[in-house]
Order: sequence, then C-alpha cells, then structure tokens
Amino acid sequence: NVIELIEEVIYIMNPLAKNKDIIIDFENNCNEIIIYGDRDKFKQMMINLIDNAIKYTNEGGKVLLKALKLDKQVEIYVIDNGIGIPKEHLPRLFERFYRVDKARSRSLGGTGLGLAIVKHIVNLMKGKIDVYSEVGEGTTFKITFPL
Ligand code: ATP
Ligand code: MG
Repeated sequence: NVIELIEEVIYIMNPLAKNKDIIIDFENNCNEIIIYGDRDKFKQMMINLIDNAIKYTNEGGKVLLKALKLDKQVEIYVIDNGIGIPKEHLPRLFERFYRVDKARSRSLGGTGLGLAIVKHIVNLMKGKIDVYSEVGEGTTFKITFPL
C-alpha cells in the first residue's frame, strides 16, 4: 500500500526536515493504493527523493508529496520549492556520481548515487520517472507505476 509506505517514510524523514524548518505535506486521493513490489526498495526510493528535496531546499521551505490513483496508473510526486536544477543538467541527472554543482554538493555531502538508485528501483517496478525544474523556483519528480 503506497499510501501507508509513504506515511512511514514521512515519519522517518520528519526530523531531518524539522532541522531545516521544512514542512512535509502529503496529498492523496484515496486511502489505499496497492502495487506489487519490494516494500523496502519502494521506501528507499522515497527516502532518496525526499532527502534531496530537503537537502536542496532552503530553510523554511516546503516539500509536497502526492499519491494519485488514476484509471490505469499511480502517480507519485515529490515537489520542493528549493534551488532548482539548470536545464542543461537534467538529461544526466540519473547517472551514477553525477552532481550538478560540485562545490555546493561537496559541502552538502553525499556521493551522487541517490538518484541512480531511484532510477534503478523505478525500472525494477516497471515504472517511469520524470523531472521538471526551474532554477530558484523548485523541482518536481514524478513517478508513474502501472496498476
Ligand atoms: P547522495 O544522494 O548520494 O547522497 P546527491 O544528493 O548529490 O548524493 P543524487 O541524489 O543522485 O546525489 O542527486 C544528484 C544531483 O542532482 C545532486 O548533487 C543535486 O545537484 C541534484 N539534485 C537532486 N535532487 C535535487 C532537488 N530536489 N533540487 C535540486 N537539485 C537536486
Ligand atoms: Mg541525494
């Protein structure tokens, strides 16, 4: 149940968000969305995306999660109002060790593997992932799984 797993992940990530005075909101259009897959991998995928949303958003920002059950698919959104990603970086974002701003990323810590792992898990679950971003406005990751 995608809804339940996302609620568990919010519980795990809330302390990290609170440290930066960031609020995590969750919107969904039903109480239960059942998909087939590995629970731990699904949670790891959400953790990596929310970790980024917190890391690349300034103090006092917002992270919005959405889970929508549609006719034939589930859509999951991780939306932040953070620093954004310049367009030229978007095509390579899911590569292993790829980081947008090396200096900035080094000071924030991390290895550049988070999104490569996300992409791998999405592929295992026969889903797809898209990213939309505007520098200075924020970033949206959209994941779609077939029902
Ligand atoms: P790791 O996840 O391994 O700790 P990381 O966060 O640098 O390190 P990824 O999660 O793979 O690595 O992300 C790759 C790069 O994409 C990041 O270094 C960052 O520049 C950019 N990025 C990812 N998510 C966001 C986001 N929500 N907002 C702005 N930039 C992002
Ligand atoms: Mg990361």
